[in-house]
Amino acid sequence: MSSETREVIIIGSGPAGLTAAVYTARANLHPLVIEGEPSSTSDQPGGQLMLTTEVENYPGFVDGIQGPELMRNFRAQAARFGAELVTSKVTRVDFSVRPFRVWIGDAELEAQTVIVSTGARALMLGLESEERLIGYGVSTCATCDGFFFRDLEIAVVGGGDSALEEAIFLTKFASKVSVIHRRKELRASKIMQDRAFRNPKIEFVWDSQVVDVLGETTVDGARVRNVVTGEETVLPISGLFVAIGHVPNTSMFTGQLDMDEAGYLLTRPGSTRTNVEGVFACGDVQDSTYRQAITAAGSGCMAAIDAERWLESQEDAPADIADETPRTW
Ligand code: NAP
Repeated sequence: MSSETREVIIIGSGPAGLTAAVYTARANLHPLVIEGEPSSTSDQPGGQLMLTTEVENYPGFVDGIQGPELMRNFRAQAARFGAELVTSKVTRVDFSVRPFRVWIGDAELEAQTVIVSTGARALMLGLESEERLIGYGVSTCATCDGFFFRDLEIAVVGGGDSALEEAIFLTKFASKVSVIHRRKELRASKIMQDRAFRNPKIEFVWDSQVVDVLGETTVDGARVRNVVTGEETVLPISGLFVAIGHVPNTSMFTGQLDMDEAGYLLTRPGSTRTNVEGVFACGDVQDSTYRQAITAAGSGCMAAIDAERWLESQEDAPADIADETPRTW
C-alpha cells in the first residue's frame, strides 16, 4: 500500500463495494478496497453472501451459484482491472478534512473520495446451532431462500413487520409457516397483522423463544421454550427464518455522516451522495428496504459513477474549494 493520496478508497467488500471497485478501476481511478477481516458474521470480506449457500436470483447465473463463489468472482473481477484489496478493518475515519483520512489501526491513509459500503448485518438469536446451520436451513432472507422450501413446514422468528412480511411471502412456497414470537402481542403494523391472521397457512407460537435449532447438516426441527410456562416443545420444521431486525454497520461514521434513527446512512435521493461532498454510500448500509445483492451491486455502480463525476468536477474547481474543509448539504 503506497502512502500517496488515493483517488478512491472503498470501505467494505460486499456486492456494492466490489462493484464500485470494478467500475472505478476501469475508470483508471486505482481504487483501494479495504475489505474487512474474516469473521463468522456478515461483517466480513464478501459480506452477507458469505453466509449463504445457493444464490438463484442473481441474474446471469442460470443454474445459480454459491454465495461465497459469487463473491470470489466479484473480487477477482475487481482485481483484474487493478483494484487493490486489503484484508483489514477500518478503525477510524475523518471526513472533516480534505483529503479525507481513513485509518487501519495506526496506518493513516488519505483519499480524495471515499465510498462507504460497509453493509448491514442481520440480528441473530445467538445460538451455536443457528450459526452452524446458517445457509443450510437457517436463513435471514425469505426473498433469497423461500423457494427452497416448497411444500415444507418452516418457521419465522420475530414479531415485527419483517417477520410477518417474510411469513406471508413464505406461504407461497411452504405448506405451513409458524411465527414464533417471544411475547403475546406483535410489534408489526395493524395491516400486516390482519394479513397474517387471515392467512390460513400461518400459525402463531406465542410467548416463545427458539432455544435450539435441530439437525446436523440441515434443519429438521427447532426446540422452542414457552417463556411463561417454561415448557419445551419441538417444532418439526425444515427451515428457520430469523427476522428479528438488521443493524447497519455505521457506528464508525457517527457524527460525520447523516443517518436515520436506525443508523442507515442518508443519501441524496436518486444518487449515492452523502451529506459530505466527496463521500458516497452504497449497498445495504444505506438501504433498509430492498437488501438484495443485485440492488447493492447496482448502487455500487452508481457510487463509482458519482465518485468519478465528482472527481472530474473538482479538477475544474478553484483550489480553495478543492483543498479545504469539505462542504456539506
Ligand atoms: P423490529 O420492528 O425491530 O422487530 C423485531 C422483532 O424481533 C420484534 O418483534 C422483537 O420482539 C423481535 N426480537 C428482537 N430480538 C429478539 C430476540 N433476541 N429473540 C426473539 N425475538 C426478538 O424489526 P423489523 O421487523 O426488521 O422492522 C424494522 C423496521 O422496518 C420497522 O420500522 C418496520 O416497521 C420496518 N419494516 C416495514 C415493512 C413494511 O412496511 N412492509 C417491512 C419490514 C420492515 P419484541 O416485539 O418483543 O421486541
